[in-house]
Amino acid sequence: MIYFDHNATTPLDKRVLEAMLPFLSSFYGNPSSLYRQGRLARSAIDNAREQLAALTDAPASQIIFTSGGTEANNLALATLTITDKLAISTTEHHSITESAASLQKQGINLSHINVDSQGLISQSTLDQLIIDRPDFVSIMLANNETGVIQDLSAITQQLKANDIKVHTDAVQALGKIPVSFKQLAVNLMSISSHKIYGPKGCGALIYDKDLKINPLIIGGGQERNLRSGTENVAAIVGFGKAAELAKTEFNERNSQLLTLRSQLEIELRTIPNLSIFADRAERIPNTVLIGMPEVDGEMLLMKLDQKGYAVSSGSACASGDKEPSPVLIAMGIEPALAKSAIRISLGLSNTQKEISNFIHLLKSLACQA
Ligand code: PLP
Repeated sequence: MIYFDHNATTPLDKRVLEAMLPFLSSFYGNPSSLYRQGRLARSAIDNAREQLAALTDAPASQIIFTSGGTEANNLALATLTITDKLAISTTEHHSITESAASLQKQGINLSHINVDSQGLISQSTLDQLIIDRPDFVSIMLANNETGVIQDLSAITQQLKANDIKVHTDAVQALGKIPVSFKQLAVNLMSISSHKIYGPKGCGALIYDKDLKINPLIIGGGQERNLRSGTENVAAIVGFGKAAELAKTEFNERNSQLLTLRSQLEIELRTIPNLSIFADRAERIPNTVLIGMPEVDGEMLLMKLDQKGYAVSSGSACASGDKEPSPVLIAMGIEPALAKSAIRISLGLSNTQKEISNFIHLLKSLACQA
């Protein structure tokens, strides 16, 4: 199989697996236990927290391990109180949109921040947002479907100057562009392990120490009482190792992905009538979302699958939906064109040959459609 769906998930790096294995076999102690086995597990978690802190430029003491990006996003929005006004961008992941909709049902005032045709929040939209004065906004750093990167430091600066708190979902940005919690100056930031060659079911929320976190899971008081439950030690160790590798190998990974994407885009542009969505916006280096009029994206995906290629027709959670992607609709794309969307998200094992073969196949399949 040729895997072009790294925004859905990435394969586990062998070095990450090696780091995890001892914690799935010999070192099985509970990190809360006071004897040696327990202390060993505790110090492995502390080490992983430091590795994450180094990658995200955040204080280790402000990182809460969770079961993934979804839980981190839910936990971030749980800091709101019932009288708060919440605004989220129209291109957020389901883990934010659904969580915000649930808060709205409980009485929280929810509004949406529009994006332009490139998926970006414009200065005039931001000016209006400041007039509307929500208490809290959630704006993703990089979009999972289009790859579009928001100019978040500039946005945060203006919002925080007006006493508006900012959360960012940095799940797709981490490892692909430099992500600094300090420089972005957000109050909260979500990240996930399985998008950076770490194990699934592990993520983290990074928080501003002045913020009151309302835990979603209570019990044994783990994670400074902010996320109870015996820690998934092996997964946390894997997340830490994946973070360390993402940091040390950042430059080579970045240039490798940029080279592959540039080849992909040059070759895609030889296909008549094909559009690359948000192609004028800055995007993470591995993501290309395309559309072709008259083509059914789901059908194309299945035909590509039969030929051994894994791509996505949008976010993994949304595949199976017959509705066009809300992200593309929010960008003003015609529903028919939005329904043709195919996302190609590259990763470190992809090659130039795979891309050329894919383009060859895509050309023949697009002609049949
Ligand atoms: N946020 C974004 C932008 C994502 O792409 C994803 C996963 O697809 C998530 C959050 C959810 O992360 P997880 O799969 O770790 O729950």
